[in-house]
Amino acid sequence: KQQHWSLLTSSSFPSEWKNNFPNCGGQRQSPINIITRKVKHDPKLTSFIFDGHENVFNMSSVRLRGGGLPATYKAVQFHLHWGENGGQGSEHSVDGECYPMELHIVHIKEKYGSLGDALNDSTGVAALAFFFEVLIPLVIEALGKVREIEDFKLTDIIPQANKLNYYRYLGSLTTPGCDQAVVWTVFQQTLPISKKQVQRDFFFFLLFNTDYNHQYLRRMKADLNSNASFFSCFS
Ligand SMILES: [Zn+2]
Repeated sequence: KQQHWSLLTSSSFPSEWKNNFPNCGGQRQSPINIITRKVKHDPKLTSFIFDGHENVFNMSSVRLRGGGLPATYKAVQFHLHWGENGGQGSEHSVDGECYPMELHIVHIKEKYGSLGDALNDSTGVAALAFFFEVLIPLVIEALGKVREIEDFKLTDIIPQANKLNYYRYLGSLTTPGCDQAVVWTVFQQTLPISKKQVQRDFFFFLLFNTDYNHQYLRRMKADLNSNASFFSCFS
């Protein structure tokens, strides 16, 4: 019936997503709460190799490889998740700790033409998640007032990501249809934001922030083994 199901409908509670999208009730769903005493060191998880991150930004030239990934991936989308009224708004959490803001950089295997194509592959999508230490109200205020930033580079905002520790798990899109096609990388170190960066770089991210209405991304976390308590960073 709901062929044109939308995140913006008032009945779209995440707990009901599985009624229309069976994957949303699946076994490898995202986001998760990462329990650090349960993670194991994996020597296959090497440093990332970033291509195009030091150049003036051009989405089609950003490549990601290494990091234990099975292929080379290309960037297709950026977006941020944040809380309302200054609250915590990250999607993932670590030992139950939430963060004010979480950046997702979404990549697909180089061989695919679109995100849709990649979703049929269990490792078709590689998503990088970065936590930010502070929420910047300006980011929210600026919605709908985006402007071009001509000389933005990814390295302006992501410091030497190949030196950061990260957590790895196989998960899903965090919105319907919850496709279980995502290799998630959640970086351990949080990123600071300066006022200067807000003025400049975060307007840039808003250019890529058109896919979701984040007010509705209130998904409860799935636990990897799913018998732990469920909670959400949006409370
Ligand atoms: Zn996201």
